[in-house]
Amino acid sequence: MEILKGIAASPGIAIGEIFLLNAKKIKTVKRKIDKNSIKGEQERFKSAVSRIEKQLKRLIDELPKEIKEHSSILQSHILMLRDKMVYDRTLELIEDETINAEWALDKAMSQIKALFATVKDAYIRERLEDISFVINKVKAALTGAETRLDLSSLKRPAIVVANNLSPADTLHMRKENCLGFVTELGSRTSHTAILAKSLGIPAVVGVENITSSCLSGETLILDALKGKVIVEPDEETLKTYEAKQKNYIKYRLEVISNSNLPAETKDGYRIKVKANMELVEEIPIIIQHGAEGVGLFRTEFLYITSKALPTEEELFKTYKEVVERLRPYPVTIRTLDIGGDKLASGICHENEMNPALGLRAIRLCLREQGLFRAQLRAILRASAYGDLRLLFPMVSGKTELVEVKALLRDIMDELEREGHGFNKDIKIGIMIEVPSAVLVADILAREVDFFSIGTNDLIQYSLAIDRINEAVSHLYEPLHPGVLKMIKLAVDAGHKAGIEVGMCGEMAGEPIYIPILLGIGLDELSMNAMAIPKIKKVIRLSQQEDCFQFVSELLSLDSAKLVREKALTFFRDNYPQDMETIDFMEVGLSI
Ligand code: PEP
Ligand code: MG
Repeated sequence: MEILKGIAASPGIAIGEIFLLNAKKIKTVKRKIDKNSIKGEQERFKSAVSRIEKQLKRLIDELPKEIKEHSSILQSHILMLRDKMVYDRTLELIEDETINAEWALDKAMSQIKALFATVKDAYIRERLEDISFVINKVKAALTGAETRLDLSSLKRPAIVVANNLSPADTLHMRKENCLGFVTELGSRTSHTAILAKSLGIPAVVGVENITSSCLSGETLILDALKGKVIVEPDEETLKTYEAKQKNYIKYRLEVISNSNLPAETKDGYRIKVKANMELVEEIPIIIQHGAEGVGLFRTEFLYITSKALPTEEELFKTYKEVVERLRPYPVTIRTLDIGGDKLASGICHENEMNPALGLRAIRLCLREQGLFRAQLRAILRASAYGDLRLLFPMVSGKTELVEVKALLRDIMDELEREGHGFNKDIKIGIMIEVPSAVLVADILAREVDFFSIGTNDLIQYSLAIDRINEAVSHLYEPLHPGVLKMIKLAVDAGHKAGIEVGMCGEMAGEPIYIPILLGIGLDELSMNAMAIPKIKKVIRLSQQEDCFQFVSELLSLDSAKLVREKALTFFRDNYPQDMETIDFMEVGLSI
């Protein structure tokens, strides 16, 4: 029996036979060519690209109706095939260095890798995997090798083990006998992981050396709750996991069947529970999991995946689709939060010493007004089609907000002159994620209709912990007394001014923090859709009166360590479930 650790990318437990995908590396034959062969070699490359393009298009056409919405990933692969860095560069290299197409492709890939190595943002770095997938396809077409995931030999249900899987491979799995998958590469935010979640396939990624640690036909336990895989388990472990799996299925069925129950405490406090979203593809899962709307639509995605800035029309089309598909629920669109560690093509980013404190979000938008205006126009135009709300990120004080509101009024006048329909009374909110905004929350609350607390950044800025720096990640503590006081200050200031205060940082989706957030008096929690049923369940098991009392005790404690200990004890004592359910909830007991 061998136990290997990885990252739980899509929750669930699977037990079954291993289907090892030997994604054979395609050997690159490197060949110098003479000048007369350049044109021919370029044509060979062009025709390989066209063949792959056709194959991907066919795949899109063949997608079953229920997963049609995922076709945008395949569309993006088609675009990547013609990307300058891939397509034009390979043609250039064939000519300039008189080398064969496979070698030129390899060189183009190395250059792209070097460029991506300088990017810190994990999400952007993962796009490298998409490019590498596309390049491999072309290489295979050039050499005649087959890279298409061949699951046709998967006659019995099995767990797929591979070095890496592309989003397209994951899309195939829906139809096949796939119980789950394990990969050596990948991370929680990769497209493959996002898709696995929305298709409900349990997955653990980032398991080093898994392909050399097992054989097809062996038994595997995939614990995608804990990010663990067990190869050839012993009898006892197998029995334990069979029971665990049964209980997990029971637990999921119960929470999902109850996902439309109200998020109301035992003593009648009704809190709104909404979803965070980034991709249009997530809408079905958002609805199925009982969200009462979208509390945070992160709009960076469209900018990061596009080769150039998306146009107002493209943005409008997407926002309109989102709001229409989620009607009658409200959708809160956050304006572009780009800059810092999230970069996009088409935007001129400075080389900054402290990107997290630099030209990011609203600061960048106020400087690049053309970009900002296009997005605001698109959002306002989409507001004619449903309950759309506007959320501005990284606001640090009133001056910024006044400037944003003036711009918004100007755009409204412009749209009116042009005869466009839009909601003139659109609700306007700000993210509370900069400490100065907390301290002047009373002033800001008079200017807006709602607050949404972004704890991911609020913790980063109030504790001075770079949220992407692993060296200080152990100090990133949501239960630091300073953080709790900040949250309470913002909520109290909002309520005093008569506006609603929500939270959309990761803290809102973790069961252990729920009694605290109820006790502070938040009006809304927004989180990843998968977390909604379990959070609603914790809310239904809560008594807000007890939470008030508990929070007043917590606020008198003087260290994060004491707060965490108390929070764990409170959770164990007041949510009388067996430890297994607590495990299923991924409470975060070991944080
Ligand atoms: C936050 O900062 O808590 C937040 C929700 O925004 P993001 O994670 O996109 O910065
Ligand atoms: Mg933020």
